[in-house]
Amino acid sequence: MKWIVAALLLAATGTGACAKRAESARPRLVVAISVDQFSAQLFNEYRPHFTAGLRRLADGAAFPNGYQAHAATETCPGHSTILTGDHPARTGIIANLWYDFAAPRPDKAIYCAEDERIAGSTSLAYTVSDLHLRVPTLGDRMKKADAASRVVVVAGKDRAAVMMAGHHPDQRWWWKGSAFAQSGATGSPIADRVNAAITRSISTPTEALVPPPLCAAKEKAIDLGGGRSVGTFHFQRAAGDAAAYSSGPELDAATLAMAAAFVQGMKLGHGKGTDLLAIGLSATDLVGHRYGPGGVEMCLQLLSLDRDLGGFFDVLDRMGIDYAVVLTADHGGLDLPERGQPGAARLDPAATVAAISSQVASTLSLPSPVLVGDWYVNATVPPARRNEVLATARQLLSRHPQVEGVYTKEEIAAHAMPTSRPEDWSVLDRLRASFDSQRSGDLAVVYKPNVTPIPKPIAGYVATHGSVWDYDRKVPILFWWRGIPPQDRRESAMTVDIMPTLASLIGLKVRQSEIDGHCLQLKASPASNCR
Ligand code: ZN
Repeated sequence: MKWIVAALLLAATGTGACAKRAESARPRLVVAISVDQFSAQLFNEYRPHFTAGLRRLADGAAFPNGYQAHAATETCPGHSTILTGDHPARTGIIANLWYDFAAPRPDKAIYCAEDERIAGSTSLAYTVSDLHLRVPTLGDRMKKADAASRVVVVAGKDRAAVMMAGHHPDQRWWWKGSAFAQSGATGSPIADRVNAAITRSISTPTEALVPPPLCAAKEKAIDLGGGRSVGTFHFQRAAGDAAAYSSGPELDAATLAMAAAFVQGMKLGHGKGTDLLAIGLSATDLVGHRYGPGGVEMCLQLLSLDRDLGGFFDVLDRMGIDYAVVLTADHGGLDLPERGQPGAARLDPAATVAAISSQVASTLSLPSPVLVGDWYVNATVPPARRNEVLATARQLLSRHPQVEGVYTKEEIAAHAMPTSRPEDWSVLDRLRASFDSQRSGDLAVVYKPNVTPIPKPIAGYVATHGSVWDYDRKVPILFWWRGIPPQDRRESAMTVDIMPTLASLIGLKVRQSEIDGHCLQLKASPASNCR
């Protein structure tokens, strides 16, 4: 396989950095990495085959039984848990998109990382904002405790950048089509330099990756009908094809190159305070949606990611930074049913919100749609008839063989927040942990396990996540720093435990009553954490 990241990293960081070890007992730089849709299943399957960056992390404190414990296993809620210590019920980020019929604009759909008060905005053409995140992140807490701390985030998705960086980042960059962008007008020579290297890179075609035997064994065309198939793509790209660049391993390489450039340009880890670098690596998710996580494409993606992360850590090592890393994911994922795993099926179109909405509208002689988004009663339904709409929808759904359960907003609101171990949570516990009385839908509809909620595969979207089931909830949680004793931890952990664990490593006090997560006691040398 070719080495995707090397040229960009070298262009971004230069050479000649020193290799001395810092002497501080606490890390000077915290690196928090999210790999979008990196399920525990993928981690466990590929773990023996990682040789570089992911190998390094897997040989630290590895929790293969990590959980994004809540029901709404989507990108925005998942990222909101990683550096806040809170479940989505507390972060307020209960979905990627919700409805607010009182929003001051015609489009009542609200994107999680936007500010809908901005004139002329829509949920698709929006201004990126931290408005909806209700709690501080680790970076916010670090800056409050020490004004010398710096917080930088670079991510493939704006919502990953916002939810990991929080309210007061020094630099916040995300991928926007063909380059990294930020809000506001202030430029950055660091970003300009890497963006220029990326532009040159996009203008150069790339040849197909050559699958090693591990990946070649997964090569099989999966027929999707209509002359389309997945399962044989090797990421070859034509010159200038920014869309292809944005949906494969090159995107993660570019993200890491930009992150490395900021480490070097701002001398992160060498300042007066402890710094935080958050990195959102989105390509795994795009590959998972486009080809499913079970094929040659994901194999090539994960091996590329392993190598590129290795290259990134080598840059930090060469700069002599004393750093600690955590890597996790915002959610897991499910393979496309056409690959033939037992019990897997696509959702019957009759059980979608659009179909149920039309049936209810026609039964009750109300104008369509009566239900929108993730099961919100439309504002056009007269208040006196809302309960009829909900009861009729529930009745129709409950009869459907692919439906596991239907819950009303009131039922979820009345349920206590779970406090047991995540593997013991009921479906209602999971729903409660990503519920908000203002933002959540009027019904929560839970489909049976292994039902892919995409009735017909479409180009670029054949497989997904978002369910309450463990294939979407379970993610690896990996901690590493130089000298950490290797420890494979079989007990469960949650992504909300990451923030208090990192806080304890850097000596930052966080009151337990303010957050949902708990510090994970790591076998650390020489000092012990969680004190
Ligand atoms: Zn995601």
